Amino acid sequence: MKKKSTQNILTYTMIAIALIATYVTVNSYYTQLAIYQEKELFKLDCIANAVAYKISGEEHSGLVDKYPSQALLDQVKTDSVFMKIYEQMFMAKEMTKVPSSMFTVIKDSVSNKFVKVISTNDNEWLSELSGKSRQPDSVYAKGGMIGLYEAEDGLHLGALSPVMSGDGEVVGMLQVEESFDSFMSKAQGQIYTNLVITLIFVIVIGILMFLSVKNILKRQEKLAEEKLELENFRRELLANISHDLRTPLAGIHGYIETLLMKKDSLDEVTREKYLITTLQGTAKLKILVDELFELSKLESKEITIHIEPFHIQDLVHDIANQFKLSASEKGVEICVESPEQLPLVKADLALIDRVLHNLLSNALKYCSKGDKVTIGVREIAGKMQISVTDTGSGIAAEDLPHLFDRFYKGRSSQPGTGLGLAIVKNILVLHDSQYQVQSVLGEGTQFTFSLNI
Ligand code: ADP
Repeated sequence: MKKKSTQNILTYTMIAIALIATYVTVNSYYTQLAIYQEKELFKLDCIANAVAYKISGEEHSGLVDKYPSQALLDQVKTDSVFMKIYEQMFMAKEMTKVPSSMFTVIKDSVSNKFVKVISTNDNEWLSELSGKSRQPDSVYAKGGMIGLYEAEDGLHLGALSPVMSGDGEVVGMLQVEESFDSFMSKAQGQIYTNLVITLIFVIVIGILMFLSVKNILKRQEKLAEEKLELENFRRELLANISHDLRTPLAGIHGYIETLLMKKDSLDEVTREKYLITTLQGTAKLKILVDELFELSKLESKEITIHIEPFHIQDLVHDIANQFKLSASEKGVEICVESPEQLPLVKADLALIDRVLHNLLSNALKYCSKGDKVTIGVREIAGKMQISVTDTGSGIAAEDLPHLFDRFYKGRSSQPGTGLGLAIVKNILVLHDSQYQVQSVLGEGTQFTFSLNI
């Protein structure tokens, strides 16, 4: 997967999360507002019903006949019926803590309009009831929640209940209302708290979603990179194998063909020479196939390393002994420089054996008569440092950065597969080892790597 498309998906995911968060927040705000409104209306309705039930209808409606104009307000306030009903409304208002105004309403037969009779607000005796959403008579008679409506002093929530006479006739109304602003100032605190909780929840889920998408994309990107690398490796491998296999195979094929064709005319010495050459060819092929197999296992992480504590100086001496014979045949000296007492290293013995084997065989390959190969072991800064130093041909500076690449042979004229150091690098990477090479052309080479102790 390309980096750009990953970036795009992440951007789209972020936009989607932001949209979901906005939608959830707005939706949650309006849903909660509606719920609080319903609750408040229900409360107003209960208050209206309770107070209306207590008011005596006949006495209440009779008040208008006794005090038929607004000018008689001071007188009506001292009337015992007025005082009784006023007190009931005032108490209900006090007890319920609803910042509402409460008033009774009748239809004035003279003006044929709804007028306020007794109110918890002062100066409202027989004042005309107005407001856009005043209900028709039939709705008034049933009572119930008026809901949200607009009056001349702004938006209100309201509920009403019929005031009955003794024989069950509706003689008036009791209306309870609350200004929308006062309702909002109570509800907003709770709504905002809930909104913040919802928002935090959505943001946390959003972040988790974003992180998991990011992880999935990262993994996919890595897989795609690995696939590409594998594909390159496959191509490189095919090109190199076909080149490296063709030469020894052509030789083997040629010698066997000659042996078969001239089996009667070949003398014993020549036949043996041909057979030895054929054998050397198959040995070369075997090395190539073995190293390829080993490298492919290491690169595909099929190898599990078995870390164990062991004495590195013992391993170094063993390997030096194994190479002593071929070194002395070439006139090269091999020596080990290591203190007697050293802490144990923690590594995979077989794999480190392979590293030392490859480094030592290279060192010998690029040394000639009179040269020296030294394997050094010492403890530095809590790590074991192992070096293989030779006084051989050395390596050109421009070859050094590519030395650990697969199939890289540099300017070497020596036979080889170019896989030995790639195997070394893979094993050392598995051990989290620090490794390096220093070389001066014509003077010699030193490979160094560290191991945990
Ligand atoms: P090869 O099978 O060719 O030795 P390696 O991966 O082991 O493959 O080495 C890669 C190349 O590094 C060699 O071809 C050679 O050019 C160079 N090289 C490695 N070790 C040494 C050394 N000790 N001295 C000089 N050149 C070396």
